[in-house]
Amino acid sequence: MKYRSTRGQVTGQSFESVVLEGLAADGGLYIPEHLPSLPTDWQTQWADLSFAELATELITLFVGDDLSRDQVSTLVSKSYSTFSTPEVTPLVDLDREKKVHILELFHGPTFAFKDVALQFLGNLFEFFLERRNSSGGAHKITVVGATSGDTGSAAIYGLRGKKNVEVFILHPEGRVSPIQEAQMTTVLDANVHNVCVPGTFDDCQDIVKQLFGRAEFKREHSLGAINSINWARILAQITYYFYSFFALKRKGGGVPVFVVPSGNFGDVLAGYYAGELGLPVGKLVIATNANDILDRFLKTGRYEKNEEEGVWATPSPAMDILVSSNFERFLWYLARDYEAGGDVERAGKVIGAWMDELKTRGSFAVSPGALAKARQVFWSGRCGDQETYATIAKYYARDPSYLLDPHTAVGVYVAETLRSDIEEMGADTVCLSTAHPAKFSEAVLKAVNENGHHLDFASILPPPFVGLLEKPKRCLTCDNSADAVARLIVDNVSKD
Ligand SMILES: *Cc1c(COP(=O)(O)O)cnc(C)c1O
Repeated sequence: MKYRSTRGQVTGQSFESVVLEGLAADGGLYIPEHLPSLPTDWQTQWADLSFAELATELITLFVGDDLSRDQVSTLVSKSYSTFSTPEVTPLVDLDREKKVHILELFHGPTFAFKDVALQFLGNLFEFFLERRNSSGGAHKITVVGATSGDTGSAAIYGLRGKKNVEVFILHPEGRVSPIQEAQMTTVLDANVHNVCVPGTFDDCQDIVKQLFGRAEFKREHSLGAINSINWARILAQITYYFYSFFALKRKGGGVPVFVVPSGNFGDVLAGYYAGELGLPVGKLVIATNANDILDRFLKTGRYEKNEEEGVWATPSPAMDILVSSNFERFLWYLARDYEAGGDVERAGKVIGAWMDELKTRGSFAVSPGALAKARQVFWSGRCGDQETYATIAKYYARDPSYLLDPHTAVGVYVAETLRSDIEEMGADTVCLSTAHPAKFSEAVLKAVNENGHHLDFASILPPPFVGLLEKPKRCLTCDNSADAVARLIVDNVSKD
């Protein structure tokens, strides 16, 4: 199994180098050169596997000679033992009559779906680095990332205590919710460095980009990225599409339509790969908040940044994006089949040209054939702030024992708008739930209490959040500049 870059300049890479490198040197994203085939009898063979067993089967198909099945199995078991339920990603009913289910992806250590991938990625980093060092090397990796709250904590929990890995996560001072800040800064492992920057999330992201742009600094410290462009994150997420397919079958359900609250397109892209591998998928529904570049693309065939207005701050902040970084991977398949006549070399050039156009003119358009293909795979919909609050309130009023988080509510709302189409297919609706409501308690309480209820913060907290705000914290403060952060990294990385 080898990997190529979507921009076409890098090919023949191994799984290990793709995982450690993240982004390809030509600026593209790594994709498999060929998709593996499933065993012909997978639907019977895999039907009763545990989550970890299923993950082992799927991931083994993509690692080539870099890991044995036993090694994958060990890494996967370790990664999912941190989840609070043996099912890892349980499927629960939201509305039995209408055949609507919720796939709960938030049972990991930080209560958001990113744990599914980042728990695994942390173990992969550690394994590959230790193996390289066992033959005498001194390989280390310094992960540097910026967060507006959600990714940071999942990354920190994925990497805490890992050997040969240092992690620096920048967050904007005073602009992260108290729970999210505490989730990050109460992690006291020596290799975890929270960096608080007086400025905005964009300032933090800018600093990270500048550091990655300094070739010498990047090489010297082996800077590594953990954002959702890392192929291992997509790969790990394929498992829950298969797992929920079997869970649905056991409930007597039919073909699933997956509804995915989307930002950077990593979550729903894993569903696309699941379908390409052969999983029966009715449709994949991309649900966006007001940051709706993907919904607009599906409607018009034009991928267009909303540059003048910028990013909207919504109650579902983990989906507040201007462009969706992982969409380039899906675009590559469109480019290959509809713009390049199946020629993989030319596909890379088409992607390069589209991305240039996006950068210089703010948009590009695909051909009618490519758009038709995209619509064959995906439906989409957009959910505004008011609809998000209203959906949380509506489901709470129906059943106070089940609270939707704002991201999940975006998906549930979009699923409602597509109800008749889904019914026409005779399909079941599987809404992916990407966060625990307590993580976004402000929005959830606002939604519920403005509609006459009296829900308080304490009553929605899961046990690990109780007392979190009072725990000891560690956080470095740093000036709002790339030079200052670079100095801080040098000072803190060399300490051991
Ligand atoms: C990251 C995130 C999303 C968006 O997922 P993408 O892979 O970026 O599309 C949705 N909900 C929550 C809670 C998230 O943390």
